[in-house]
Amino acid sequence: MQNNFKEIKNWCDERKVNLVAISKTYPVESITLLYKQGQRMFGENKVQEIMMKECQLPTDVQWHLVGHLQTNKVKFVAPFVSLIHSVDSLKLLQEINKHAIKNSRVQNVLLQIFIADEKTKFGLSEEECFSLLERKEINKMKNIRIEGLMGMATNTNDEKKVRKEFKGLKKMLDTIKKIYSSENIEMKTLSMGMSSDYKIAVEEGSNMVRLGSVIFGERKTYISLI
Ligand SMILES: *Cc1c(COP(=O)(O)O)cnc(C)c1O
Repeated sequence: MQNNFKEIKNWCDERKVNLVAISKTYPVESITLLYKQGQRMFGENKVQEIMMKECQLPTDVQWHLVGHLQTNKVKFVAPFVSLIHSVDSLKLLQEINKHAIKNSRVQNVLLQIFIADEKTKFGLSEEECFSLLERKEINKMKNIRIEGLMGMATNTNDEKKVRKEFKGLKKMLDTIKKIYSSENIEMKTLSMGMSSDYKIAVEEGSNMVRLGSVIFGERKTYISLI
């Protein structure tokens, strides 16, 4: 386990790419091992799991939520989460803003964009994303900062297809940068790339990769944490 970590971390550093270690299903001990090697950004996809781990790890860990977030669970992560990658509605943004105010924080978020041709993945279409950004309500959400986009490519060996999906997301980010200027929209983060496709993602402009199995080892389904 973690044999690859140092090498991958260096690879990312050389390219100025942020590495989020996706620790879902892995025990706290595995996170601690990476923490001791200097890793600070960790990501989880479930609210209960991120809460359970957050209280067992040092306070300078930057927790990223990468999974789908239900509005009724925002209150649980609002006190500590450093970046929410998976915002896909105005209602969710409003709820996040409300709880950010309660916690006297500015919450950084990414909009999750649907780029794969799989039915199971969450996210906004390009059209939905643009109409969301046009909503006047967003300007008033002083405790929200939309700092970029997140996307997951189709799970396939077809490299061309994956590359095309990533290219499309990068283009969207660039377009939004040009069109939308608002105090709380600053499109600087492009979260794309997982264990199987992060090199392609970085070639296509990603500056934040979300890596689980390639650094922690195969995910074992028998570990049931919650
Ligand atoms: C699990 C997960 C990852 C990491 O997946 P690996 O294939 O293990 O690298 C990245 N992003 C999201 C949204 C995930 O749920």
